[in-house]
Amino acid sequence: MFKKIPELNELQKLTDRFSNLLQVEELGQIEAKGIKYPMVGLVIGNKSPTAPTFGLFGGVHGLERVGSHVLLAFLNMLLEKCSWDRDWASFFERNRLVSIPVINPSGFALNRRSNNNGVDLMRNAPVEASGKLLWGVSGHRYGGFMPWYRGKELQTETRAVEAFAQKYLYQSQTAISIDLHSGFGMKDRLWYPWAHTTNPFPHLGAIHRIVELFEKTYPYHIYKIEPQHHSYMTHGDLWDWLYLEKQKNNNSAYLPFTLEMGSWMWVKKNPWQFFSLSGIFNPVKKHRYARTMRRHLHLLEFLLKGIDCPDKWL
Ligand SMILES: [Zn+2]
Repeated sequence: MFKKIPELNELQKLTDRFSNLLQVEELGQIEAKGIKYPMVGLVIGNKSPTAPTFGLFGGVHGLERVGSHVLLAFLNMLLEKCSWDRDWASFFERNRLVSIPVINPSGFALNRRSNNNGVDLMRNAPVEASGKLLWGVSGHRYGGFMPWYRGKELQTETRAVEAFAQKYLYQSQTAISIDLHSGFGMKDRLWYPWAHTTNPFPHLGAIHRIVELFEKTYPYHIYKIEPQHHSYMTHGDLWDWLYLEKQKNNNSAYLPFTLEMGSWMWVKKNPWQFFSLSGIFNPVKKHRYARTMRRHLHLLEFLLKGIDCPDKWL
C-alpha cells in the first residue's frame, strides 16, 4: 500500500525503527487512481490531554516534498537522541510532539499541489479572508482545473487534521506548531498568523517574545519572520482555522507557524531545475539537498523546546 510514495516508505521505516517511542495512528485513507493511501499521525511523549504540545506538519501540497523530507530528517534526529540522551527522555515525560508528515498523500501520489479532488488543502478550511486578495492565488471556487481551488466542501484531509488537533492539541495548556512548505520567494520565511486578515493576531505578544528569544539565541539565523499577510492573504488557511477552533475549546496559547522555504533561490542557482515540475519546489543538487536537510533543525528544535518554557514567552 505504501509502495508508490517514497515519503510514506521512509515514514514506515522510521515508525518500525522507533516503535518503542512512537504511537502511530491511521487518521484516514485517501484514494488516488484506485489506490488507497493512509494519512499517518504520530504521537511522542506525554499522553495527558493538557500536556504542552508541539505539532509538526508537512506535505500539505503534493509538489512540496522537501517539507516532508525536512520533517522526517528532524524526527529521525530527535528519536535517535531520545534513545541515548537522558534530557530528551525526561523532556518527553512532560511534553508531547504530534506530527502528520504527509497531509496530502494523494497529491504526493499524483505529483501535484492539490489533492485527488483538485482541492488546495491550504485554501479549504472554512475561513473567509477580507482585504487585499490576489486573484486566484488567495483561493477561488471556479474549479479544480486551476490551482488554489477551495473546493465545495471540507476535504477528508482537512477534517482528519482537525480531528487529530482536537484530540492532541486543543486541550493542551501550551501549543506551538509548524507546517513546512516550499515554493515562494528567494528567502526562507517563517510566517505567523494571520493569513485571512491584517488584524493583529490575539497571541501577537507571545509571538513577538518567542521570536525575540529565537533572535537572541540564534543571531545569525536566516529567516525572514513576518505575519503571513505581509506576503499574501488567503481564504481557507488551515492554521488560522485550527487556532480559531482551539480558542473555542480552550483559550490557552497556541502559536501556529508556517515555514515557507524559499525555493526560488534553488532555481536561480540551478536554472535547469525550472524544467522539472518538482524542481521548482525541491532542491535537486545533492549538496543543496543535504544543506536543506540540516538548515532547519535548530529552528524546529527551538520551537519544540519552547513548549517546555512558556514562562519565557507567554
Ligand atoms: Zn505549500
